[in-house]
Amino acid sequence: MALPHLTSAIPFLTEAGLETTAYHTYKIDLPCSSGTTLLTSESGRELVRSLYKSYANIAASSGTGILLATRTWRASSAWAKPLNYSEDELRDLNYAAVHFLKQVRNEVNKTNPAVRIVLDGVVGPLRDAYEDYSSDEISVDSAKEAYRGQIRTLVEEGVEIISLMTVTNLHEAIAVVELSKEMQIPVAVSFSLESDGKLLSGLSLENAIQTVDKATDGYTTYFGINCVHPARILQPLENMDLDVRQRIGLIRGNASLKSHEELDNSDTLDRGHIPTFVSALKQVLLLLPGIRVVGGCCGTDEEHLTALAQQCLS
Ligand SMILES: [Zn+2]
Repeated sequence: MALPHLTSAIPFLTEAGLETTAYHTYKIDLPCSSGTTLLTSESGRELVRSLYKSYANIAASSGTGILLATRTWRASSAWAKPLNYSEDELRDLNYAAVHFLKQVRNEVNKTNPAVRIVLDGVVGPLRDAYEDYSSDEISVDSAKEAYRGQIRTLVEEGVEIISLMTVTNLHEAIAVVELSKEMQIPVAVSFSLESDGKLLSGLSLENAIQTVDKATDGYTTYFGINCVHPARILQPLENMDLDVRQRIGLIRGNASLKSHEELDNSDTLDRGHIPTFVSALKQVLLLLPGIRVVGGCCGTDEEHLTALAQQCLS
């Protein structure tokens, strides 16, 4: 059966930047910026639960559904050592992340049975999203080995779609699509873009989408855009062929107009200007006939999400 956001007349919402909110607003240190460690303490779980519920309530008030993400970004085996876990511990955390999200979905649906929540199994990149590494450095096969265990765990525990977030390396993207195809689950591939609207390597979004589609017989359910202010990608989208543009089903914009380099060198969070964010996003959505999911990335919070749900999803 098709997932509800694939057949809905209006796009679904997804999260805001939960990890940047945890770090900047709640002052919780996140090793490797991964939200996975939040699941290891009662206070961390409580925060994630309350943010999940806030996001779901925003979707419900706008009469749409929501994709809620497992806290498993950067929780593939490649991150076990940097996160200080054994591979077994990290696998258990992936199980726990899905289990926890299912619990929250049940709690939300008990009080509000109408809100449709899709369990989004998030995976994402094997290295820093702001680090450029050529496809020569990682083969499709080695990327598959790095992701296989995590994706199998997420699928076994019941996520409804796999979303590869903030990816910049095409071999990684192809690997995740191939694994999803093997495990017969829908998959989204969302690229992290720079302030020129291109991937870190200088590759255009159009080219990236075409390359992944060609290598995988178009298995990807939809592609996505991450981690860039919507105003920065208007022009590249305007210049893109419609047949490629309509493959884009997801956008999670950054609040800030600053470059990743400027943001990396800053300790304060730039929440940007919400009316500018929303009006640029509105224009972007007019260019995306295949849009299915809209949310926020770094620097966005419930206020951004509320504004975009009210103004962009009706
Ligand atoms: Zn981001």
